[in-house]
Amino acid sequence: MNKRFAEQRAVVIGAGIGGLAAAAALANHFGQVVVLERDELPADARPRPGAAQTRHLHVLLSGGAAALAELFPGFHTQLVAVGAQRADAGADAHFELAGAPKLPRRELNIYTWQLSRPLLEAVLREQLRKRENVQLRELSRVIGIVADESNRAAGVRFESREGKHDELNSTLVIDASGRGVPTLDFLKATGRPTPAETAVSADLTYGTTVYSFPAGAEPDFKQAWVHGKAPEQGRAGFLVKRENGLWDAVLAGRLGDVPPTEDNAYLAFADSLPTEAIGIALRRGRREAPIVRFGYAQSRWRHFADVAGFPAGLLPLGDAVCSTNPVFGQGMTVAAKEAVILHRLLAKAEGNSDSLESIGPVFLKQMEELVKVPWSGTTALDLAYPQTKGERPADMQQRSEYQVGVMKLAAVDPDVHRLMVEVRHLVKPAHLLHAPDLQQRVRALLQHPAASS
Ligand SMILES: Cc1cc2nc3c(=O)[nH]c(=O)nc-3n(C[C@H](O)[C@H](O)[C@H](O)COP(=O)(O)OP(=O)(O)OC[C@H]3O[C@@H](n4cnc5c(N)ncnc54)[C@H](O)[C@@H]3O)c2cc1C
Repeated sequence: MNKRFAEQRAVVIGAGIGGLAAAAALANHFGQVVVLERDELPADARPRPGAAQTRHLHVLLSGGAAALAELFPGFHTQLVAVGAQRADAGADAHFELAGAPKLPRRELNIYTWQLSRPLLEAVLREQLRKRENVQLRELSRVIGIVADESNRAAGVRFESREGKHDELNSTLVIDASGRGVPTLDFLKATGRPTPAETAVSADLTYGTTVYSFPAGAEPDFKQAWVHGKAPEQGRAGFLVKRENGLWDAVLAGRLGDVPPTEDNAYLAFADSLPTEAIGIALRRGRREAPIVRFGYAQSRWRHFADVAGFPAGLLPLGDAVCSTNPVFGQGMTVAAKEAVILHRLLAKAEGNSDSLESIGPVFLKQMEELVKVPWSGTTALDLAYPQTKGERPADMQQRSEYQVGVMKLAAVDPDVHRLMVEVRHLVKPAHLLHAPDLQQRVRALLQHPAASS
């Protein structure tokens, strides 16, 4: 353990994926880590009201699983033990973006981990409860971050389960509250500027349920992702196998096109997707849960790295910093990778004289780099609809053509297919998709579509 922080306490606001991952990172370096969560934290796997999205389909991408494995030793083995499904992102995936070439089913050895979000949280909580220096305090709502005489963050004020107000001092506060209200309030209360925000509307509504399939009727894929061609088609569908022989189903509409919650209408909505795979599958299965809706209004990115005089002793992460349209399932992966950044910076501080003050700006900067990939990928999809509100990059048309070119190449070249998926799973950096030789091949393909190899 880092001697510099061994006598000190870190506080984490929120026990979502970002908060749990951050707690694991901090536990390697701080004498005590306290996670304050406003919800109850059950021993079993149940959705929580504080994070309403926990009722809806969540997949864990390869980059996220690797990050969590770095923070939670034995993580992959634990996932297998609880019945998570491991799906090859090529061979087990039915992936269709209408208007783009269909990708063949081929083994890529890049895996999506498919388990319900409450089960994933339960796995992480169980591991954290085994760490002596970590406390998970449920029914504890943070009501403010406390400043010291130099206006740095020095702890939190919270309402305990008994309804009492209390304070906890700490050297570091991590805001993993999803909405980031504690950080914004603290910046205002201490007379600092709040961060600039970039927003792109999504106006997406999920209709989520759970299916089972009788023996012999299971789909021949483990995950299906079907998305309409913008701007004519706004509908999408996802069907994903997870633990207990169950499948999470989502039908999604945009711009007021709301998926129905009645059986026949739901199936008709599935039939209206640009391709038939999900509709056919659902008609062979049995619905096991009510159809529930979730509205996702907009992707939002707060540029904390640019806030002059950002307070020492406070770091926001996860959705508190950037929330992207969940269509590619990248949010938990981003949060887990941010916790790994934190862990590595703290580990580096052990060997030199870096202080928490100097780690903060580096952390915020590295997060800013990390979220660029999910941000540009998901907002590109949203901005293709003319009604979408948000700033369109000047080269949007070229970007979108290039993307289609990469998909065309991926259809015929397994290496490009793998690279494309590795970038989406946040395993490899996006600039590799713009390497000069690849750019040349994509351009040649777009100019002479027949020469596709
Ligand atoms: C419909 C939907 C589907 C999604 N699907 C996927 C997917 O397939 N894959 C994926 O990777 N991501 C997905 N995401 C994104 C993912 O849910 C988020 O990116 C991820 O949960 C971010 O984690 P977080 O810890 O930052 O925030 P959250 O998970 O929202 O956790 C925040 C926590 O803080 C607590 N909290 C808030 N305020 C306080 C307070 N004052 N005091 C104490 N506790 C507080 C909340 O109760 C909550 O538990 C999806 C999102 C949505 C909306």
